[in-house]
Amino acid sequence: MNPTIDDLIAQFKSNQQDRGVTLDTHQPHTLLLCCSDARSDPAIWIKTDLNELFIVRTPGNVIPPFDEQRPCGVIAGITYAIEKLPIKQCIVLNHSNCGGAEYLHSCHEPDTLPQLTSWMRLNGNRDKNPTLDPSQRTLINAYNNLILYPCIQKRRQLESLAIHALFLDIKQAAIYRYQPERDEFDHL
Ligand SMILES: [Zn+2]
Repeated sequence: MNPTIDDLIAQFKSNQQDRGVTLDTHQPHTLLLCCSDARSDPAIWIKTDLNELFIVRTPGNVIPPFDEQRPCGVIAGITYAIEKLPIKQCIVLNHSNCGGAEYLHSCHEPDTLPQLTSWMRLNGNRDKNPTLDPSQRTLINAYNNLILYPCIQKRRQLESLAIHALFLDIKQAAIYRYQPERDEFDHL
């Protein structure tokens, strides 16, 4: 299916209905960081409604180390959500067969997407487990960067923010939770 813009607008109009939720104020309960991959849309997988999720999506779900001197959309999104919105939990969601993660961990000579390589490398390389697949390693690195953000640390000290790192197997429709203390993934 290759819908045109007119098809998409018609789809938009046909989908409008009384949703039964207030949209007067922005009140998401969850900050969700995930990949831009078209197969991993969290609102569809979880079936949430409007005004539930504040979503930051990027190729590969990179979360750069916090650096106030080098702001980017991810840092701005996390900071805004945590400081200004009624966020109670944060979910870092990566998925299987992630193109960004696989590109970074495979050899490319020449590198035809140096911008993607540079972007993915912002995640750093904190994970020490070579047995994990590239998508899981990306998740661990992103999670480890996130928990060092000052706004995240402040909220965690107040015990007012839960953080979860989840891995979605898109072919199996299975979900796994990363356990930082064991450096393992548990099937849920
Ligand atoms: Zn991806």
